[in-house]
Amino acid sequence: MQIGNMIENNRPFLSLEFFPPKEKEGWPEFFARVEKLKQLHPLFVSITCGAGGSSRDNTLEIASRLQNEMKLETMAHLTCLGGDRASMKETLTQLQGMGVSNILALRGDPSRDPDAPPPPKDFCYASDLVTYVRENFPETGVGVAGYPEAHPESPSIASDRQRMKEKLECGTDFLVTQFLFDSRLYFDYVERLRELGVTQPIIPGVLPVLSLKSVRHILSLSGASIPGRLYLDLEEANERGGPEEVRKLGIEFARKQIRELLAGGAPGIHLYTLNQAEPCLQIAADLF
Ligand SMILES: Cc1cc2nc3c(=O)[nH]c(=O)nc-3n(C[C@H](O)[C@H](O)[C@H](O)COP(=O)(O)OP(=O)(O)OC[C@H]3O[C@@H](n4cnc5c(N)ncnc54)[C@H](O)[C@@H]3O)c2cc1C
Repeated sequence: MQIGNMIENNRPFLSLEFFPPKEKEGWPEFFARVEKLKQLHPLFVSITCGAGGSSRDNTLEIASRLQNEMKLETMAHLTCLGGDRASMKETLTQLQGMGVSNILALRGDPSRDPDAPPPPKDFCYASDLVTYVRENFPETGVGVAGYPEAHPESPSIASDRQRMKEKLECGTDFLVTQFLFDSRLYFDYVERLRELGVTQPIIPGVLPVLSLKSVRHILSLSGASIPGRLYLDLEEANERGGPEEVRKLGIEFARKQIRELLAGGAPGIHLYTLNQAEPCLQIAADLF
């Protein structure tokens, strides 16, 4: 079923994001964790894909198993930069055949290899993929990514919002945001997009801070920021009680943030699970 049609009648909802484990030996443990998380009754789950479409086969195989064996409404992330129409058609046809009815349409990041050949021009931006899916796979639901702090390549906040509006106008059903730690960023983002005439649901992303090391790594990759106060609190927690105290604070912070976001009108929460079950169970307990 298309996720866009499920959102309105299921507010407030939880959705869960996973990434494909690097090694296939890790898959049984991965699916065991997903099984545990089923008790949270997520409205949908999503599975990421590697940069530049790498590991797409794993994304597709896991998406199929989540949808068909675990009976979870599944959204497959799909990057388009570097892809051509023929390969995109093949992937979307495969997903359709597997019963996976939703994708997160992404541009993805350009290759960092200076010798890499220039990508084909079929898809330059995520909006090109949205348009392609709408024209050729009308029964597939389409979400896109949004950046309350603006995408790192956007020349200005205003241009970021304008491009986002255009991407949504290509036929997008809903938007999932980059994770954020200051809920006001989300509320402001929603307000600005509504002023531009955007009507689609905007789902905030919440990332649990489970260790200082992982949050440093993720922030360095994403371009998102962390409030100074939160970072100091995490450092203090680390000095006081080490990694266990950091994890406890991260879980409490995520719970507080989810309450704030839902109270402020968010239709649901997209939780970046980091493929962890226990902390996500603690974070979401009694909140949905
Ligand atoms: C929720 C979420 C999930 C993600 N999942 C994955 C994943 O699974 N795999 C992965 O590799 N990456 C993932 N990403 C990262 C994403 O691929 C990168 O952030 C990428 O750099 C941009 O992708 P996009 O789809 O947002 O791009 P776009 O929407 O195409 O935007 C990219 C930039 O181009 C600008 N732009 C858009 N249209 C135009 C235009 N017509 N002319 C000029 N400029 C334009 C935008 O303002 C923006 O600055 C995810 C991000 C989020 C927030």
